[in-house]
Amino acid sequence: PVISDETPFCPGCDVSIAEINNINKKIRKDIVSLVNTDFFKYFKFDPFKKCTFWENNDGLCFSRSCAVDVVEDWDKLPEYWQPEVLGSLDNATSDETVTHHTPEDDTSFLNELCNDDKKKQFLEKNEHDLNYYDINDFLNKDAVLVDLSKNPERFTGYGGQQAGQIWKSIYAENCFSSDETDTCLAKDAFYRIVSGLHASIGTHLSNDHLDTTTGKWGPDLDLFMARVGNFPERVSNIYFNYAIVAKSLWKIKPYLKDLDFCNDYDNDVKQKIINIVSQLDSKLFDEDLMFKDDYDASIKDDFRSRFKNVTKIMDCVHCDRCKMWGKVQTTGYATSLKILFELNEADEASKQQVVNRLSKFELISLLNTFNRLSTSIQSINNFEKLYEERVNGQ
Ligand code: FAD
Repeated sequence: PVISDETPFCPGCDVSIAEINNINKKIRKDIVSLVNTDFFKYFKFDPFKKCTFWENNDGLCFSRSCAVDVVEDWDKLPEYWQPEVLGSLDNATSDETVTHHTPEDDTSFLNELCNDDKKKQFLEKNEHDLNYYDINDFLNKDAVLVDLSKNPERFTGYGGQQAGQIWKSIYAENCFSSDETDTCLAKDAFYRIVSGLHASIGTHLSNDHLDTTTGKWGPDLDLFMARVGNFPERVSNIYFNYAIVAKSLWKIKPYLKDLDFCNDYDNDVKQKIINIVSQLDSKLFDEDLMFKDDYDASIKDDFRSRFKNVTKIMDCVHCDRCKMWGKVQTTGYATSLKILFELNEADEASKQQVVNRLSKFELISLLNTFNRLSTSIQSINNFEKLYEERVNGQ
């Protein structure tokens, strides 16, 4: 029903859907275990950051009804099924999954995780900003600390006009100044990344969906087909995103040795990452096809600043959990793009520098985004089985 195993799914990807499914099976255990380690399960973001794209962000969504479009009779449901509750961050557990940090204990938290990247995060004077996201997101004093493993990405009930407006604004960023042929690959890639993110979110919310009649969470095949499965292009864009994130991980493999994690589990965490990157291949994606010459340099700058806008549009999302995963994933893609496109012309020492300077939050976002895609692919494989069972009347 979805796409055939041999469907070529992107220019520049020399792998089939079946090969990606196989790679995914091999790395699955390690990536799940990695994102549950202390280093990778915490994330910091500012849920209160002002939306800079609209004058009055509340104006887009005054009533709760615009957060409701999947279930019609929300008001009749118990309080814990309401979208605000489903989409909120879980801070009810005793170990406080969301914590406000003052600047002092912020530093101690960073020490706790043995992270020395503070000094690396800041750009040196006059240095060209290579980032595809806004580094201030993580340095802001209002940022909260979240345990991602306790706040899974799943159905939240967020939808309607407000969510539609956010997606529309994100797609509208894909509007490059020149429409020459040369911009086409960049434009195509930008669209695929956004659509792949959108489809991946659609897959998660269908896979971890609340059945409001039984009160049970589980996969909803009809919802998956309506959002993703009936659109082969959307499915292939998830595979495209998997290929670019995987290629970026492959690309930093030689430079990982100098990255510092935390003493006690340093080796364990590093070993898991090495196990994962060892299963990856350079033919997953050929980034050299994009931004080949001087003319392309300005398109690349445009691409970078437009993608940065996508990460900032997340500040306008009206559902904390969606916003949090939106930040994680857009920052993860931003990090992949930085690795793919800014590690190219540099010599070995400069490449090592770019990797050394990856901040903790970039690494956390990158690996968690890879896990989101890996989970999506596993769910797609599972939905395919459910679909076949249904068609065969089992
Ligand atoms: P939408 O998904 O809002 O899409 C709008 C239109 O875009 C569709 O009508 C279609 O024409 C087009 N479209 C849809 N998918 C694609 C695609 N893959 N590629 C190209 N075009 C497409 N909801 C949750 O339950 N849990 C979450 O964690 C969650 N996170 C979100 C994070 C962000 C950043 C945003 C903006 C929304 C999030 N949502 C989440 C809401 C969810 O994405 C949908 O917006 C919502 O479920 C309503 O879906 P819809 O079918 O009305 O269309």
